[in-house]
Amino acid sequence: MKKLDPAGPPERISPRCLRIPLPDPFVPGVTSVFVLDSEAGLPPWLLDSGADMPESEAALRAGLESLSITPETASGVVLSHTHLDHAGGLLRWRPESLLAHQNAVEEMRNLQPASSRGRTALRSMGVPAELADDLAPEDEPVGGAPFARTPVSHPVSGPDGPIPGSGGWRWILAEGHAPGHLMVFHPEDRVLLVADQFLHRWKTPIRIADREEDSFGLFLASLDRALQLEPHIVCSSHTGAIQPAIPFLADRRAVLDRQLERTLAAVENGSSSAWEVVASGGDRRPSGGLLILYLRERLAMLRHLAADGALVRQLQDGVERFVPA
Ligand SMILES: [Zn+2]
Repeated sequence: MKKLDPAGPPERISPRCLRIPLPDPFVPGVTSVFVLDSEAGLPPWLLDSGADMPESEAALRAGLESLSITPETASGVVLSHTHLDHAGGLLRWRPESLLAHQNAVEEMRNLQPASSRGRTALRSMGVPAELADDLAPEDEPVGGAPFARTPVSHPVSGPDGPIPGSGGWRWILAEGHAPGHLMVFHPEDRVLLVADQFLHRWKTPIRIADREEDSFGLFLASLDRALQLEPHIVCSSHTGAIQPAIPFLADRRAVLDRQLERTLAAVENGSSSAWEVVASGGDRRPSGGLLILYLRERLAMLRHLAADGALVRQLQDGVERFVPA
């Protein structure tokens, strides 16, 4: 599969969907705005708004110019989630309409959203203090205060619904990565735009900011929901289109089920924190941002196993520790 090029031309994903790749300050350096064809006579909707940087806005305007529209004259923006590489454009220009899930709107109004990779998060994973200082990132792709006043013309709630005037496109709630994360689906073309939910060859960063949320369980439910839709094509915002989609999704499900089993086995063998589970995994321990990604996933899995009753959680000094039930 080709790597997605942030300087690449617009790419046709399906008869009713075009992707405009854009530069992005966060790994892997590329994000996307998808153009969703609407009913005859109506301008298209956009999925997401790009990153909050001039290069991203310029690339979006150039891509839309070939379609004779601008970010302002599109029917509106469907916001997949509030992270700055998807919502940042909203800080630079004002769409005609903005459709976002109620859970995402609450996150937008939250002046101090909790981090899933900052020092507190690393502490709860049991990362040793000296390593946590090195690992904690400077930049956060988390929104919050900047969006406190962004008008949302179409707040939506529940598990799914239509995108108005779009000729059949639907939004589907897919939690686990960010509050109110949406996927977008067209039932005739069977194209599923998954934003950050399922990334080819990358792990989706699981949200761990809320200790009481079973984000891994929510993520698994969204994977099952995606499988139920029987999509032909799955396309994320940061990686190339995946076709056929069902074997890819089924494989993701099987891999995660195996990792859950291994996580449970690690606790039965004496590991008690996310850090200890990752450290017990043998000699191939990742470093930097990839290590945080693994730790987040393990902590989310441990919480999920606790929510299921297989493990019991104990809080010790800010560290979440787990023992067999
Ligand atoms: Zn994201």
